[in-house]
Amino acid sequence: MIEYSKIEEFFAPEGLFQQNFPPFEIRTSQRDLARRITRTINEKRFLIAEAGTGVGKTFSYLVPAMLYADQEEQPLVISTYTKNLQMQLAQKDIPQVAQILDLNLEIAVLMGRSNYLCRTRLQFLHQKKEQFPVRLLPQIYLWSQETEEGTFEEWSFADHPEIWSLIAADADGCQGQFCPHQNDCFVQKARRKCQQADIIVINHHLFFSDLKMQNSEEQSLLPSHQVIIFDEAHHLEQTGIDFLGTDFSQVEVIEIIGEIRDFLGRLQKEKKDGLNFATLFSALQGLEEKAQAFFFEFDRELERNNPRFIYPGWWQKLQNSPLELLESMEALNRGLVVGEEVFPEELTLALGELRNRWGKLIASLDYFLDLPGDNFVSWLEGDGKNLILRSLPLFLDDFLIQSLYPQVESLIFTSATLSINDQGAYFAENLGLPSERTDTMILGSPFDYDQQAILLIPRDIPPPQDPDFVGKSIEIFQEVFPVLGPRNLLLFTSYQMLQSFYREIEGFCEEKGVEVFVQGKRAVSQLLRDFRESPRAIMLGTASFWEGVDLPGADLTSVILFRLPFPVPDDPWISGKARELEKQGKNSFTHLMLPRAIIRFKQGWGRLIRSFSDRGILLVLDRRILTKNYGKIFCSTLPERLPIIEGSAQKLFTAGKKFWERAGEIWTEVEK
Ligand code: SF4
Repeated sequence: MIEYSKIEEFFAPEGLFQQNFPPFEIRTSQRDLARRITRTINEKRFLIAEAGTGVGKTFSYLVPAMLYADQEEQPLVISTYTKNLQMQLAQKDIPQVAQILDLNLEIAVLMGRSNYLCRTRLQFLHQKKEQFPVRLLPQIYLWSQETEEGTFEEWSFADHPEIWSLIAADADGCQGQFCPHQNDCFVQKARRKCQQADIIVINHHLFFSDLKMQNSEEQSLLPSHQVIIFDEAHHLEQTGIDFLGTDFSQVEVIEIIGEIRDFLGRLQKEKKDGLNFATLFSALQGLEEKAQAFFFEFDRELERNNPRFIYPGWWQKLQNSPLELLESMEALNRGLVVGEEVFPEELTLALGELRNRWGKLIASLDYFLDLPGDNFVSWLEGDGKNLILRSLPLFLDDFLIQSLYPQVESLIFTSATLSINDQGAYFAENLGLPSERTDTMILGSPFDYDQQAILLIPRDIPPPQDPDFVGKSIEIFQEVFPVLGPRNLLLFTSYQMLQSFYREIEGFCEEKGVEVFVQGKRAVSQLLRDFRESPRAIMLGTASFWEGVDLPGADLTSVILFRLPFPVPDDPWISGKARELEKQGKNSFTHLMLPRAIIRFKQGWGRLIRSFSDRGILLVLDRRILTKNYGKIFCSTLPERLPIIEGSAQKLFTAGKKFWERAGEIWTEVEK
């Protein structure tokens, strides 16, 4: 039981928090959230807690979490979506709160396997010398002896990420209990540390991985635990869906066949007995031909329809049966077993790694031959370089209802974007949260939106489906542009739309001396750094930029949303889920498209104001927010006191100009 008095002591005016962070004011919403989380844990309930930017939710959950971990036998688990937040919690926030509370807690961070060095793969690195500068080998070996955690964070060769991919501890190549490095394996070491920890910080992907293990015969990654706090919880559903999906990709098949051929070639040179090389090479050749024919047929299918949905029994009409491919893959696998005992250790390990990966591919193809029909959507897609068979579950609720909720006492889901229309029902429904155990708390941002921002909406603009929309939106953008401040983020709903806007705006920006940064043209961190340093810039982004960009202060002075971010209806998962919802008698627009658009819209405008001193303009070029019935729901996500100005481009320009004059910062390049 967490003592409520300790929460009050921490968050009270002039309490522990303020004594340790003197310039900070206690925010009532932060204290309210901490109290509510405490009650949720004490009363063994679930909580959906939406806390707008600026509430300070991290400390709100860390204080009760750490008080709980200090007195309970079992650890408390915190799960995040991004590695950044995971590291920030472990390296900064948790130690800070521990110091203030004077607690001595064991903290463990567990990351995805690919973040750790695999000593076995390192042992073979010299065999891949054509793939990296071989002169680095001695230094890499030395680093592997000295590194403490063996993580990518500690990796000293940041300029060589390609080497890391050759030695990372990916699950597919792991030898598990047969590995001679088991005792000094970094993945195992991190897992062992978790067994002793009071607080364990993981990510959502690992959380699902652990949950799946708990339901199989494999050993769970985490020690027994009763309380989990999910930060960035709006990513939980999609992470779970992706995690429970299956892929079978052409590139992977070709890569592994190539690696097996190289491996056999090496064995042959070393004149290893025990393998019938002629048979194996000929099996490999036959296999390659079958795979080629199989994927060639896919390619032709995709010329007619990309993506192409597939159903149970889909493959029976193919000329090149995947069953034959599967049998050849299994035959090769058996052929490789024969020689195992006669190899020296190093070769056995290398072969084991290949066979593990090969075995996973066999299992994937097998899955596609025996597809589940209900509640899964499966399809074939290709981008000219790779053909992929993909299958995803449509719903996550049943999996969580069966494997998670009965096992834990308390769950807290928090994020700045969980609710629709001030309710957590959509989130709760998708995750199948039990209504009798689940509460919702929604806390808006404490910012002064009436002073810090304005929303501009043009009147004379056609709806986005209209062929004149792009031309007109560019015209309005150019007119309002001088009052948007020096650094503007333009968010699009598709890369295609981003590109067409870019082509149209390039000349205008050149003429005005504005630098244009485009998502995908260079690494995100580099892009953001250059954008911040530019005296006058626009950034064009889509997808992850709606939520993954944090540019406080004058680094970002306006956000421009071109259209309301409804999901692309021909995305296979979206269209599969829409179809299934309709089958269940539900309206797919209100149950899927609209809620997803609203969450994304909140994430998009949420980029603008990140702190109490930020100022900025939000420009929404989609009038449906005012003209459609559902527009009211989008508007309800906006802060109540945010001034909204609607009108001609000239009126919006004047409003923007006045806004900056009021804000005392005149960034306009007014020519009018
Ligand atoms: S146990 Fe797996 S990850 Fe660890 S060193 Fe061995 S092969 Fe690599």
